[in-house]
Amino acid sequence: MEADENRELLERLLATSDAPCPSCEYNLRGLKGQHCPECNQRLVLRVGLAEPRLGAFVTGLVGIAAGLGFCGLLGIYFLVYLIHRNFQFAGPGAAIVPLPIGTTLCGGLLWWWIDRRGWLGRKERGPRWAITAAVFAVSLVCPLAFTVLIR
Ligand SMILES: [Zn+2]
Repeated sequence: MEADENRELLERLLATSDAPCPSCEYNLRGLKGQHCPECNQRLVLRVGLAEPRLGAFVTGLVGIAAGLGFCGLLGIYFLVYLIHRNFQFAGPGAAIVPLPIGTTLCGGLLWWWIDRRGWLGRKERGPRWAITAAVFAVSLVCPLAFTVLIR
């Protein structure tokens, strides 16, 4: 949209309507120009969703972030621990193996999940939540493996 066209449409819309600034919530009714008079941020007209369906996407994001955080932080902890102990570990060595795998897996999954957000949004409700559940489950495999192996 051209800048002048955006300005004209914005002014026409706000001439008779109340609308809060998305940044500072200042009422923009009667706005002249394209900048909020309160916070001076530039404003644009956009098409928005009445009710964005973000539940599945956010649920998947939480699962992936939990797996990444668990494996990543414990991986760093064990790396520091091993460096201080000259790489001597009294516990089961196999328990540490899921940590770098989980960090890599969840890191890749996080990138993929964010990249595929539009693809997920186009799915019907059933498949969308089935994919989300699968991603959530995959994200927790390495933290669970670590928990079982460390005993
Ligand atoms: Zn503002």
